[in-house]
Formats: sequence, structure tokens, C-alpha cells
Amino acid sequence: MRACMHPPRINLLPNMPGETVDGVIDEFEAITSDAREVQIQTLRDILEANADSEYLQCLGLDGRTDPESFRDCVPLVTHKEIQHYIQRIADGDTSPILTGKPITTISLSSGTTQGKPKFVPFNDDLIDNTVQIYKTSFAFRNREYPVGSGKALQLIYGSKQFRTKGGLVAGTATTNVFRSDRYRAAMESIRSEACSPEEVIFSPDFHQSLYCHLLCGLLFWDEIQFVSSTFAYSIVHAFGTFEQVWEELCNDIRKGVISDRITASSIREAVSRLLKRNPDLADWIHEKCSGLNNWHGLIPSLFPNAKYVYGIMTGSMEPYTKKLRRYAGELPLLSADYGSSEGWIGVNINPKLPPESVTFAVIPNIGYFEFIPSMKIDEIPEGDSSRMELPFPEEEPEPVGLTEVKAGEEYEVVLTNFAGLYRYRLGDVVKVTGFHNSTPELRFIRRKSLVLSINIDKNTEKDLQLAVEAASSILAAREGLEVVDFTSHADVTTSPGHYVIFWEMEGVAGEEVMRECCDCLDRSFEDAGYVGSRRTNGIGALELRVVRRGTFEKVLEHFLGMGSAVSQFKTPRCVGPNNMAVFQILCDNVVNRYFSQAY
Ligand code: AMP
Repeated sequence: MRACMHPPRINLLPNMPGETVDGVIDEFEAITSDAREVQIQTLRDILEANADSEYLQCLGLDGRTDPESFRDCVPLVTHKEIQHYIQRIADGDTSPILTGKPITTISLSSGTTQGKPKFVPFNDDLIDNTVQIYKTSFAFRNREYPVGSGKALQLIYGSKQFRTKGGLVAGTATTNVFRSDRYRAAMESIRSEACSPEEVIFSPDFHQSLYCHLLCGLLFWDEIQFVSSTFAYSIVHAFGTFEQVWEELCNDIRKGVISDRITASSIREAVSRLLKRNPDLADWIHEKCSGLNNWHGLIPSLFPNAKYVYGIMTGSMEPYTKKLRRYAGELPLLSADYGSSEGWIGVNINPKLPPESVTFAVIPNIGYFEFIPSMKIDEIPEGDSSRMELPFPEEEPEPVGLTEVKAGEEYEVVLTNFAGLYRYRLGDVVKVTGFHNSTPELRFIRRKSLVLSINIDKNTEKDLQLAVEAASSILAAREGLEVVDFTSHADVTTSPGHYVIFWEMEGVAGEEVMRECCDCLDRSFEDAGYVGSRRTNGIGALELRVVRRGTFEKVLEHFLGMGSAVSQFKTPRCVGPNNMAVFQILCDNVVNRYFSQAY
């Protein structure tokens, strides 16, 4: 048992007080009212619980647990520096390496930034944190948009779990959470019943899973209270698939027999138990779908009792919100919380805010948080050697504590958790927008790594997103077409090097419009380094490569093949040498290339 603390960690496990919506909100208000004290206590708990670990033993803390000693003795690290400790754990070393209690499960991060999934330690504390954040988030959401006891169309997918060399269970963090009995038991009180049986969530084949999620949603059409997924991408992807398969879904319902495309016996049997012949429902769905203009308002048409659409819509998910709004019609889009495989950070307590304005209140007892002021972040792309070196800052950055951050400033998040990560640089840049009680509210800005850089130019994921938004608005205005997905590449094999943007589009646009889009992309990168280099030909003309329809689906398949889950998938916004397989997929599917004439 962890030492008793004051103020206490919220205990939200079943049959404990504080389970009502108001109770959960009261608890949240209590722990955020003296965030500094809660942080000191949380750090003490983490260090006491793991004092015997090899990692902490070597650092000379000698039993001290105060923030100053912690900062003086424990170095800031990235995943690279602690990878060998995690590998030893995965290989079966059961000595206390990073934590007092041995780690028995490993999470795989989605790996879309670095090309391949990373191993991250996972334990029961992370499950409890997940429960705490879900309950807090649900309480605030439910206060604004109460949902009844109906069902939810939850577009979630467990990836395969496997055993590491040392016999530890490994899977994506979402899979580890969804599979955990501890999680299921704890969530019983608030979990709207998913309309799909578990066999669908844990199906061996994601395409079959998706088809059955949609089918189950239709079968329970009038009970669905909300539609959700972890990330907005999977909701857009699911309804994009619906556009292709809706007639087949209607057929299944009309006949009461599931399509031959479902070959996995586990899900075939589970869904067949729910599927009864219902020609009236099939006709009704047919009529609804036929009456829609470009699928606008699809979700409320199919699920008239749904109250909202829910999932992470910030950061790299922002580009998908446009399409999501089309499917959602008048239904509100509620953006979900901020976390990672390494741990949770903050909760969205203002569900009514539109996705672009969402902030996350840090929960001060789920980890110990520090923040590196943004100007000191070394802007070196993670694992991308395609670009020339930028100078590293001379001094070690000095992080500040959770309650020392300043509104209006940007910081990189540093996390210390209950699962063996100490002063771990998460690689995310956030902006403090204000405080809720004494805990900061953060807006997600970007991954720290640069997306594009050839020499002195620096362009981030956000810069790329804005450039694509500007250019795609030309496409939408002139041709009524949308960009389905995009990524980028810094091509230094040409002299001079140049930016390459890959676009998948919904249809074919005229040459002239495409040239305009290409020029617009080039002009939209406005940092002085880029503009100066373009003017002096230190960087060559930007190249827009259009890839054939379905190319980004192949990119998704590639990541799924490496153990990633659709629930956690984020399209990599830059492909470099670490991502050669993805780069190859993109290059193999190019149908048109345009070079900018903007300079
Ligand atoms: P992973 O651990 O691979 O699933 O990815 C975690 C990363 O996803 C975080 O470090 C963020 O970069 C991103 N992320 C998670 N939640 C959010 C959010 N609410 N808004 C924006 N980005 C997020």
C-alpha cells in the first residue's frame, strides 16, 4: 500500500464514495485547489514506492523525496536514454529495475513519429489513472450533455497482445487498458454499454471489426447515446468506410444474415446472435442514406438519439474535424482528454468548447509534472537525419514545476509517473492558457520534433497543417474536393534540397488548380529561414505529389502490421529515413507531381 497522503488521491474504484457525477467533480475541485501540495505528495509517493529500484538507487537520492533533491539528482531523459532498462524488463529481468514492484506488462506507443512502436512500462497505477481521468471527464461531460442508460457506438479496436522475449504481455496502451479486469470493474458505473460485443473489439482483423461495429450500431440505432473513438481519425475512417459498405450493411439487415466478408468465426457468431431479419430497418436506413447530401449529417440521421460525437480532436487530429463536422451535422463534437502511452496529463473539463479551443486541466495526483520553457527546447527532429544539424543549446534546460508555469507561455511536458518513468521528456509542446483553481490548463500545440527542415528553416507539424489548410481551401472552393490525408518529406537527395508534400484527395482536380495549391503550400511556410532560403535558392521549389486513393489506408495497414492499433493511430506528418517503408508506400502510389512557381 502506498503511504497515506494529504490531500488524498481520488479513490474512484467501485463501491467507494464519490461515485456520483457531483462527487467526482467535487473531488477534482479539491485536488486542483492546492495543486502544489498534491504534486509534492505525489512525488513523495512515487519515490517511496520505487525507492528500491536500481534506477533510483544509483542516483543518490538516499531516501529524499522533495522536489529539489529530485531535480538535483535525477536527470532529464528521453526514451532513448532509458530504452535499455525497459529492454531488460521486456527480456525477463524481474529485479526491481525502474519500479519497486516488477513490471509485468509493456505498452507499445503508436510509433507514428519515430517509425516504429516504442516499449513503455505499464502497470496497475496507469489503469487507475485512466479510470480517474475517464470518470472526471465523463462527470464534466455528463453535466452538460447527460446521456441516459442507452448504448454507445464505440469505434474501438484492441490490437494483438503478444509476449516479449521475457514472457511479458505487450500490447498498445489502449489494448492493455481495455483488456484489464481492473479497468472493466472500475468503469462499470459509467460505461455506457458498447453496442458491439467484445469479440468485435478484440477481433483478429480490423476491417471485419469495423464492419461489425457499424452493423451493431445500426441494429441498436435508436439506443445510441453517442458515437466515440480514441482519436477522431478512427471515427472519420469508420464513416468513410460506411460510405462504401452501407448497401451491404442494409442487405445483411434485410436478410438477417451477416456478409461473407466476415470470416472470423468469433465475431461472426457473436454478431449473428444480434442480427435478426428486419426489412423495415433496412428500408429506413436506405431511405436515410439516399436522402443525404454528400453524407452531411449522417450520424444524427442514423442515430437520432445521439447527443454528441466524442474523441481526441486536437493536435494532429485537427485536420479530420472538418470531415467529422460533415458527418456529425448539428451534433456537438466533444474533444477528449490528453494522454499518452507513458501516462495521462490532463482532462477536458469544458466539453462545450469547440475542438480548436479545447484545453486540458492537469490532474495533479496522476503524476509529477515539470515543464521546460519552450525557447529552450532543442529543435532537433526525432530520429530524422535527413536534415542538417541545428545547433544544440549549450545549457541544460531548466524545467519549472506544475504551479510555476506562466499563462501565455509554451513548454515541453516532462513526466514522472508511477510506472518507472522519471523526468521523462514527452516531446509535446503545450501552451498554458490559464489555471483551473491552481492547476494549469494546457492547449496542445505540437510534437516537439520539427517536421520539416533542410538548412536554417524550421517548420513544425502545426506549420504544415496550416499550409495544407490554406491550400486545401483553394481545392474546396474551386473544385469542391477535400484532402483526405497528407504527410511531408524533406528531400535532401536533390540539390538544393526541397520540401515534398504528399496529398491524397477525394477526387481529381484540374491541373491549374493543383498548381495553385502547390504554390500556396510553398508560400504558406512563412518562417524567415524558409522564405530566405527559397529566395536565394538554398531550398528548391516545393513539390506536391498526389497519391492515389487508398494510399493512406496502406500506411495505416503498415502500422497495424507492426502491432499498432487503429484506436491509437496517427498519420505521421513527416516521413524520413526512419520511416522508409512508409516513404516507399507513398512513392509507389504517386499519380501526379507539381513543382511550385511561387518564388
Ligand atoms: P501514443 O502514446 O503513441 O498513443 O501517443 C501519445 C501522443 O499523442 C501524445 O504524446 C500527443 O502527442 C498525442 N496526443 C494524445 N492526446 C492528445 C490530445 N488530446 N491532443 C493532442 N494530441 C494528443
